[in-house]
Amino acid sequence: MKKLNLPTGVENCINTITSHGFEAFAVGGCVRDSLLGRNPKDYDVATNAAPDDIIGMFPKTVPTGIAFGTVTVMMDSLPIEVTTYRSDGEYDDFRRPTTVSFGSKIEDDLSRRDFTVNAMAYNHESGLVDLFGGQSDLQNGVIRCVGKPADRFSEDALRIMRCFRFALRLGFDIEQETLSAALEMSGNLEKISVERIAVELTGCLAAKCPARLKTLLDTGCLTFLGMNGGSDLSRLDRIMNDRCARLAALLLLTKTENAFLKNLRLDNRTINTVSVLTMNSSVKPPVTAPDICRLLGALPYELSEQYYSLREALYDDDTKISRNMLRYVVDNDLPYKISHLKINGNEIIRSGAAKEGREVGIILNRLLQAVIDDPSLNERQKLLSLAVELFQQ
Ligand code: ATP
Ligand code: MG
Repeated sequence: MKKLNLPTGVENCINTITSHGFEAFAVGGCVRDSLLGRNPKDYDVATNAAPDDIIGMFPKTVPTGIAFGTVTVMMDSLPIEVTTYRSDGEYDDFRRPTTVSFGSKIEDDLSRRDFTVNAMAYNHESGLVDLFGGQSDLQNGVIRCVGKPADRFSEDALRIMRCFRFALRLGFDIEQETLSAALEMSGNLEKISVERIAVELTGCLAAKCPARLKTLLDTGCLTFLGMNGGSDLSRLDRIMNDRCARLAALLLLTKTENAFLKNLRLDNRTINTVSVLTMNSSVKPPVTAPDICRLLGALPYELSEQYYSLREALYDDDTKISRNMLRYVVDNDLPYKISHLKINGNEIIRSGAAKEGREVGIILNRLLQAVIDDPSLNERQKLLSLAVELFQQ
């Protein structure tokens, strides 16, 4: 077994714990990713030391999940989650074990983990601890439950989504028995917190080829949130890898209402951005400057890449001319918003062209339409005369 590369902070953390007479291993995602030659997102360490022991060993710790045995140890600026070995107790709500008991052996801790590729531990002294064939599954590109899939998914239904997230993210296949059990039990997702589902779903969408999610969605497991199965998702893989663009595409392909996003309790910013994208994606890519300006009135410039990606992937549009025209509009500062007009509401009221807010709004809007068609009108004097003219109509 070759030596795995661990950051110095993790090595020091493990060494400190062992020098106090306890065991410590890097575990889970960081071992999986290191074996794959990928950069781990973060590092988890499992140990037989109790949380209080850990707090006493390091100068800087944060009790992030002390009830579950987790303490974050700060090694310089690297946060490491150090968790006491666990052997979970009974599960009664398809998600959380009713009791958390601390274990004394790394074997117990690994057997409660979800998939073989996530259930390996490593330190320099003992090498790789791989009790369930995780390394061979990594080599063969397989996601397989630790233990009996039906049991593991009924303990915690979130694992069903995690199973797809890992398969999609790593480009792995799901082992047959694991897949059958996941699909069979996917109705239990209804009992899982929607926030957790949202995290896993957006995680799935961030994969290179998220269209494989179809297998899971076709079971109708998210119908309770307003998303039906049965749609062709193949075009999802062509969408740029952007959270909002992918969510918008998923809604459009499955003919799902925007309410789904609210049901998932996504943040307002995401909900608004996805809604703007789904609303505007029915507009064909405009090719004239005025039409670009009108589109930009509804679709912020920052979302233009996402918009073009949706049009290309979902409607086979050629967007080259439109993209060039958009560049031209932006490079030349062509006006497309009320705030771009060289006149404001107060000036319109002073000119006598309008008396109150609503009228002012209507006039400003009509001025904008005129300026979009002929940008040379965007001068204070010309706009004032035009405003008076419009008022008289
Ligand atoms: P990522 O790189 O996406 O963070 P990860 O493997 O680190 O992947 P986490 O969600 O951070 O995933 O979980 C860390 C580890 O904890 C997993 O590798 C797995 O061993 C274990 N784990 C997490 N969630 C569960 C679960 N629901 N059931 C069983 N084990 C779990
Ligand atoms: Mg992780």
